[in-house]
Amino acid sequence: MGKYYLCMEIGGTNLRYGIVTQDFQVLDFHKIASVGLSDASDKGAYIEELFSPLLRQYGKERICCIALSLASLMDKERSICYNSPNIRGFDKLPLKQILEKRMGLPVYMERDVNTALLYEIRKNKLETSGIMIGVFIGTGLGNAMCIDGKIYKGSTGSSCELGHIPVPGLEEMCGCGKKGCIELKACGKVLAKIAEDICHCPVEEVFLRHGEETAVKEVIKMCALAVAAEVTILDPSCVILGGGVTEMPGFPLDYFTETVKENLRLPNPREAFNLILASGAPEAGIAGAALNAAVLYRQP
Ligand SMILES: [Zn+2]
Repeated sequence: MGKYYLCMEIGGTNLRYGIVTQDFQVLDFHKIASVGLSDASDKGAYIEELFSPLLRQYGKERICCIALSLASLMDKERSICYNSPNIRGFDKLPLKQILEKRMGLPVYMERDVNTALLYEIRKNKLETSGIMIGVFIGTGLGNAMCIDGKIYKGSTGSSCELGHIPVPGLEEMCGCGKKGCIELKACGKVLAKIAEDICHCPVEEVFLRHGEETAVKEVIKMCALAVAAEVTILDPSCVILGGGVTEMPGFPLDYFTETVKENLRLPNPREAFNLILASGAPEAGIAGAALNAAVLYRQP
């Protein structure tokens, strides 16, 4: 009998959790609001409580490890969460150690952008040699990089902060603590403000109703410029594009793609530019967490 991954994606809005098989099929999938975890004083006890029916149903002896995907900054060893936007109590939280001690199973954590990229690479049956990048336009501007099948974390674990590259002349302060980051102009949070202040419509309708509005196009342009900068440096085999903004009705994919391409050199990387839309599958986070754990977990 095969073993299972016990998985959870901890997002700012929702927790998604369930069982993933060793060939990465999702067997059991649950989604609840993150507010309970945010309110919980004991994070380990809260997560264990959610997992316990699954442990009973599938048998603890058949769970090989716990695989987590988090919208959180982490140390390079992926053991300590520095902070998670929208979830309280995750500052300097040694979550790996807490859960391993409590549950007696190995725990593997990774950033949500990285697990999402791993999921899409597998789903699209992409050749893993070379460099692939993921760009996720959601509340922020998320970014991930996979080199020869391995997630690139950087020397301190803080690589791929594409949203925080500097923009000349931009003096505004960013939530990250420095000023002038491109994310101040290029993410869903900016789009939501434009929808409210300029377009006076729900953000979900902003492309359909105000797609030609200069301010709306400017957000997409700035996202495209950030992507063009990364493609210029890395010459990746493909860019996987996802995130809530790209899933909104009327997302101007052609304008985005053309803007990236016109900012790339000829003949390459412009002619070879290869954009793949992410699936946006709800189980991507937990299946991607299992994919990440599969690399790290060595079966006895
Ligand atoms: Zn920043």
